[in-house]
Parts: sequence; C-alpha cells; structure tokens
Amino acid sequence: MSDRRCADFGELVTILREQDERLPVAVTADLTYRCNFRCAHCFCRLPENAPQAQQELTFAEWDRILGECVDEGALCLTLTGGEALLHPDFRRIWVMAKRRGLLLELFTNAALLDSEEVSFFAEWPPRLLSVSVYAATEETYRYFTGRSGMLARVRSALDLLAERGVAFELKTVLTRRNVHEFEALRQLFSQYGKTFRWDAELLGTYSTGGGNPAAERLTPAEVVALEQADAVRYREWQRLLRDWEPAPPLVQTPFRCGVGMGGPHFDPYGRMRPCMVFESLSYDARTGSVRQGWREVLPRMLAAFPVVPGPCVSCAWPQLCRFCPATALLAGCSVGGPSPFHCELGRLRAQAHGISEERRASLTPGY
Ligand code: SF4
Ligand code: SF4
Ligand code: SF4
Repeated sequence: MSDRRCADFGELVTILREQDERLPVAVTADLTYRCNFRCAHCFCRLPENAPQAQQELTFAEWDRILGECVDEGALCLTLTGGEALLHPDFRRIWVMAKRRGLLLELFTNAALLDSEEVSFFAEWPPRLLSVSVYAATEETYRYFTGRSGMLARVRSALDLLAERGVAFELKTVLTRRNVHEFEALRQLFSQYGKTFRWDAELLGTYSTGGGNPAAERLTPAEVVALEQADAVRYREWQRLLRDWEPAPPLVQTPFRCGVGMGGPHFDPYGRMRPCMVFESLSYDARTGSVRQGWREVLPRMLAAFPVVPGPCVSCAWPQLCRFCPATALLAGCSVGGPSPFHCELGRLRAQAHGISEERRASLTPGY
C-alpha cells in the first residue's frame, strides 16, 4: 500500500514537472540555528538564548513565505535547525503548513519530545519525524552532545512515538567521539525496527557555526572501512557503481547535480538558497517574493557561477567522492578542487569496489 502511494506520488511529480520544470516540489527550512545540544562537529549550534533569536523569521513571515511556496506548487516541507522545536512559534507554523496541504517532515534530536509534544504530533501527524540518535550509552551521549541524561530522554521520546503511532526514522552522525559505538548504535536502531542510517562525511562549517567538523570527522580510511562493515551501505555503493560511467569534463557549469531545481531552502533569517548546503548564494525572501527568488534570481546566480580551473573540472570520479561546489566553499577549498579528504575518499571507495588505479588513471587526465 505505501509503495503504491510512493509510486503515485512520483508519477504525480513527473506529470507536474512536465508542465513546470521549476516546480519547487520539496521545500526545506531551518527554523533556528539555536540548539539545546552542543555537538562538537556542528555548524548550527547557537545557544538556546542566543540574541540571534531576535532575527529569526516570525510566524507571520513563515505564513507568507510558505503560502507563496504553495502558490508556486510546493508539495513537501522539511523543518530543521538547530533544533526546530525551539522556535517559539513552532506549533503554529506546523499547523499552518499542514492546513496548506504540505506533507511535513521534521529533523529533531528528540530531547524536547515529551508526552505533550508527542500528543501534538499524534494529532497533527508528520509524514516522518527524522530523529538523530548520537550514542548508545549515556557517557558517550554526554561526550557527543555536551548534555547529561540525554539517552534516557531520547529513548523515552522514541517509546512515546512508537506507542502513539507517529511515523519516525532514526539516523546518526559518526565522528571521533562515538564511532566506537557503531555496533551498539546499530543494535539500538534495530530494537526499534529501524534501518541503520548513518553519515560520516561531515561538511565544512557555516559562518554562523561554532563547531569544528574537520577536527571531529573520521579519516577517509575509517569512513570506507565502516561502509565495508555495513552490508546495506556496501550494497548501495555496489548498486550505484554497477552502471557507472565516467563523468564528462565540466564546461559551462561547475554543477553536476540538479541544484536549484528541487525546491528552495530557507535559513532562519529569510535567506533563500538553491540547496541546503549552498550558503554563499542567497536571495532575501524576507523582503522579496518567493516567485522572484526561485524563478528569476537564484537561476541567474547559478547560471553565472563560473567553472573554476582545478582538478575537479576534468575528474571522472565525482560520484565516488561526492565533492561539489557547495561543499567546497563550506570546506574552504577552491570550487575547482581538489579536496585532499574527498580525493582520498574517492580513491579508497574505488579500491574497495574493484575499480583499478589503471582505470582511474586512464580516465582522469593528470591523475
Ligand atoms: S548536530 Fe543537531 S543536535 Fe547537535 S548541536 Fe547540531 S543541530 Fe543540535
Ligand atoms: S549540496 Fe552540492 S551536490 Fe547537493 S544539491 Fe547542493 S550543490 Fe548539488
Ligand atoms: S575532490 Fe578529487 S576525486 Fe573529487 S572530483 Fe575533485 S579531483 Fe576528483
């Protein structure tokens, strides 16, 4: 039944896109960069009482912006942060978005999901709550998040969500602080019947940040070793590489993805970006219309974004390293590359999946 629904949704989007190729299907929004946790790798962890709260978009502003997104054809909305539940108007924004017909997802660390909050989500259900779980023991949870007693609180929230039938998934970020609990986390996820979803490729840091992803992240060798140890992840890579073709050199644009096509991202202060990661290209939706930003200004900015000389321009392997202009800028690298971390990640993934050095060298000039 749910597969059928997904297929129907995909078909609907395909049909709608035939009529409007810039349909902003999926909108994402950071409601706040404040958070109740202090994860060391994090780029959006302002204190709960940070003065930046005064500059966050209000309910009335989100009402106008999301209304305009729906007018442009938006179907889905993902709310994230920081911890989105800290926004003083969170519930009003959620109910308003549901009443506008948007399918809602929320990214949360779940520490604020008490019985009353879970009852709210049971009454106004999400399509999915995506819960980040950072450790399998209290000690590591504290080391990772800077807060004590959080594992018990998060587990209580997960039990409540399960009891009340609120749809949720679990995911984690693996860093130097919790990687030793890889197996224990996998078991914890399976206790809730959830797929073990994890990420270990931390991005650079936003200017609003405070954490230090580069100091916390694993080495490329450790990331690839984990990918090998996780049968599901290993098969995903195998599937991805089965029909792999070398990427053509970049000529007119540095983008190999569909950036700026799927839907806009909004930061807490009203800046619209072409994707969640692309901090340096933005349009002020607080003072301008969504239509103008999405359909005119951002496409113009992306079209004018230059191809910067560097090894990434002619590299045949971007699928293996997943380096892109947005991550380059966040990591403080040239848009043309290289990023030593990502190059090594790509090389080790190729090795792990039987793509020989000779083949790589023959396809990548200057490799
Ligand atoms: S990683 Fe998530 S939970 Fe941790 S500080 Fe950042 S926003 Fe908060
Ligand atoms: S993060 Fe990079 S690959 Fe992803 S949509 Fe943005 S520009 Fe494209
Ligand atoms: S970072 Fe390295 S592996 Fe990735 S595209 Fe650039 S040159 Fe290729």
